[in-house]
Amino acid sequence: MTNLNKIFLDYNSTTPVDETIIAKIHEIAKLPLNSSAIHSLGRYANTLIDESKLQITQLLNAYNYEIIFTSGATEATNTVFFGNNFDDIIISSIEHASVYNCRPQNSKISEIKCKQNGVINIEDFIKKIPQHKNFLVSTMLCNNETGVIQPAEEIAQITHQNLGLFHCDAVQALGKIPVDLEKINPDFVAISAHKINGPQGIGALLYRKGLDFRPLIFGGKQQKSKRAGSLNITGIVGFGQACFIAKQKLKDFSKIAKLRDYLEEQLQIIAQSNIIFLGNETTRLANTCLYSIRNLSNQTQLINFDLNNICVSAGSSCSSGVISQSRVLQAMGIENDFLDGAIRVSLSPQTSKSEIDYFIKIFSEFYNRAKINKK
Ligand code: PLP
Repeated sequence: MTNLNKIFLDYNSTTPVDETIIAKIHEIAKLPLNSSAIHSLGRYANTLIDESKLQITQLLNAYNYEIIFTSGATEATNTVFFGNNFDDIIISSIEHASVYNCRPQNSKISEIKCKQNGVINIEDFIKKIPQHKNFLVSTMLCNNETGVIQPAEEIAQITHQNLGLFHCDAVQALGKIPVDLEKINPDFVAISAHKINGPQGIGALLYRKGLDFRPLIFGGKQQKSKRAGSLNITGIVGFGQACFIAKQKLKDFSKIAKLRDYLEEQLQIIAQSNIIFLGNETTRLANTCLYSIRNLSNQTQLINFDLNNICVSAGSSCSSGVISQSRVLQAMGIENDFLDGAIRVSLSPQTSKSEIDYFIKIFSEFYNRAKINKK
């Protein structure tokens, strides 16, 4: 049996389900709830769905949006990209794979460059806007690797001035920074429960009231025929509850920055000019540290951390256990020496100083042992 007593510092990848949510799911899961049923239990299922929608709406100030539940943010994004016949789709070069690899055959895809600090380049975006109005722009609110907060409001504004539609991947922003949809003004938003201590396999697509699109999944008439299939009631209840809790705790999230900054200071002392921090010259999520070591592969670093019971990640370029060079780092124009050595450490409000001290100790021992081409 795997020893599960780990120091988990990979909270941008997923989070454990909150204890109170587990209890609530446990209670609901005992009931045979199908929201399509006409009887009282069906009506109860619909009450639970409405409650969850309200909790999501309150967290995002999304009173002008419809919500459909999906299996996650990936499905929400696919629904937007494939549910409209956009002639052009403009994405940024630092999007998560769920956006980056979503490429309908008949749409021309263009990529907005990103600046060295990890922020999407607005000047480059303006150059990519087509002459017609049948286009979609999709950019994220916060990057999953660097944590850098993106100018989504400005991008939405420019998109609308040019009569296009704007889709925003708000997955990493949810529960970490205030997200006000009235202010940002996107047309579509993708979110996911498992990044905010909710269950996996449930997410949502929010779309501005009045907008229309084809479903991705056909079948029954659930969710106003926008997403067929019986609804995942336990997931939906858990997602709503996770949003409710996230809203209560939101103001405390920024406090994590103190521990993250302490971590970066210590790593800097140890590795000096052989370490860089990505995205630290601009506004970023309080919990995210993405560092890279000169000429030291992230694969060997990950193995060493893992052997010492520390869970971190090489960023989202690591999927299905295969590590490839980070597209985000490449887009930021990082020096070649640093392209293979990036590790993302992402903290939670529960992360303790002793966990960070242990990480620093293991880092230091490994760094001092490593035969790298140090400068
Ligand atoms: N977008 C971003 C920025 C993410 O970090 C993730 C998950 O890693 C996703 C989208 C995909 O979300 P889901 O796992 O719900 O499909």
